[in-house]
Amino acid sequence: MKVIIVGGVAGGATTAARLRRLDEKAKIIMIDKGNHISFANCGLPYYIGDVIKDKKDLLLQTPESFNERFNVDVRVREKVEKIIPDEKKVIIKKLDTDEEYEEDYDKLVLSTRSRTN
Ligand SMILES: Cc1cc2nc3c(=O)[nH]c(=O)nc-3n(C[C@H](O)[C@H](O)[C@H](O)COP(=O)(O)OP(=O)(O)OC[C@H]3O[C@@H](n4cnc5c(N)ncnc54)[C@H](O)[C@@H]3O)c2cc1C
Repeated sequence: MKVIIVGGVAGGATTAARLRRLDEKAKIIMIDKGNHISFANCGLPYYIGDVIKDKKDLLLQTPESFNERFNVDVRVREKVEKIIPDEKKVIIKKLDTDEEYEEDYDKLVLSTRSRTN
């Protein structure tokens, strides 16, 4: 079982941790286009309001600590540009180099937030 999770914050990191608890052998890749994963979205107003002084206090995990704890391949500053559902593949762009590569999956989880209009 190979799972790709797009988005590494609220839903993505939660899903990755839960999946690992359910299946020790699955290959889990979590991709986020940002610099950080698993941070406290809901704490942001406290940082802006100067109640939380150090933004590091909003970070719950780093890519390295998450990998060490849950054996999840975490890739930051990489953006999923395209999903090819018929082939069960995604096209990923490394934002630092513009290099693109593809990765296949058995299951794909999208946790990229959403917006209602
Ligand atoms: C200030 C604030 C207060 C909040 N308070 C509450 C609250 O009290 N209660 C509550 O229930 N909810 C609250 N929320 C909402 C809650 O944080 C969100 O509903 C939740 O974070 C959504 O989870 P998510 O995993 O879908 O998205 P996020 O946690 O936003 O994570 C999405 C991630 O996906 C990444 N991403 C997007 N597109 C791509 C792509 N193509 N390729 C790679 N990565 C991608 C982004 O970089 C981002 O890091 C609050 C939000 C904010 C900002």
